[in-house]
Amino acid sequence: MRQELGQQIGEKARELLSSGVVECVIGYERATDGVTARPLFVYGVEDVDRLIFDDTCIHNLTRYLLNRRDKNTAVVAKPCDSRAINLLLNEKQIEREKVFIIGVACQGVVETRWNQAGETLQARCQLCSQHTPVVYDFLVGEAPPEQPPPEAYADVLEMEARSAAEREAFWQEQFDRCIRCYACRQVCPGCYCSECFVEQLDPLWVGIRIAPAENQIWNTIRAFHLVGRCIGCNECERVCPLNIPLSLLNRKLEKEVWELFGFQAGMSAEAVPPFATFEKEEKLGIGE
Ligand code: SF4
Ligand code: SF4
Ligand code: SF4
Repeated sequence: MRQELGQQIGEKARELLSSGVVECVIGYERATDGVTARPLFVYGVEDVDRLIFDDTCIHNLTRYLLNRRDKNTAVVAKPCDSRAINLLLNEKQIEREKVFIIGVACQGVVETRWNQAGETLQARCQLCSQHTPVVYDFLVGEAPPEQPPPEAYADVLEMEARSAAEREAFWQEQFDRCIRCYACRQVCPGCYCSECFVEQLDPLWVGIRIAPAENQIWNTIRAFHLVGRCIGCNECERVCPLNIPLSLLNRKLEKEVWELFGFQAGMSAEAVPPFATFEKEEKLGIGE
């Protein structure tokens, strides 16, 4: 079945490239360790046989669309990744006519390390209830049978039950370890500002020191910039070299947005995000 998915993706890629519909197909190929997968940019039909899809295809490839805004491109997208396409369409960062989406109905991906693929699904996949892409032009694969929705916020609720002092101590300890490599930013489909606030000099929002106060501002503001925009691909946590539990923070904010506005980022390209609009009736508990 996994081999078939790669073949189906390859056939579609061949058709799209040979007909000139797209100039490039972004998918996955087997990495040099022979076990895991890595992103592949296919520009010619001679390379389509390199395309694969299996449970080691962990990367969210939609981030690369931001580097190809003016070129017709096809991209392989799992359901979680497809939400990023809706986010980028909604925020007018990409044009629908220029993107061909090869969606993959997904049964989950595993943790991988160099030359190793685990047997259990990634934590995000164990919590996932979206197994068919929310947007696609061509679909391969089969979604698993419907399951009752998982309790996606058990760890968030556990954190909410702690005192403010305990929560502060927890996050202080996490952020103190941050080396400000910005890998979380570089991999994130929602982090595409041409100049990030941490690199602005005039005005200077935050110093360049790797120190507790600056680290805290960096991580907190980045999380705030993703409120109502994070699509939960968990790429930031995957690439963090210090294993900082960024998804715990992201999903806390996702939960707040859901409870306040009934909104989940990336489910539709048309839905107006809560932070891009305001209704007079909204009081949100302030001054009530
Ligand atoms: S989070 Fe869901 S859609 Fe994304 S890889 Fe896991 S199972 Fe697939
Ligand atoms: S990837 Fe991790 S260590 Fe690097 S800036 Fe982000 S939180 Fe800090
Ligand atoms: S903040 Fe993390 S989980 Fe959210 S969209 Fe960005 S990379 Fe994905």
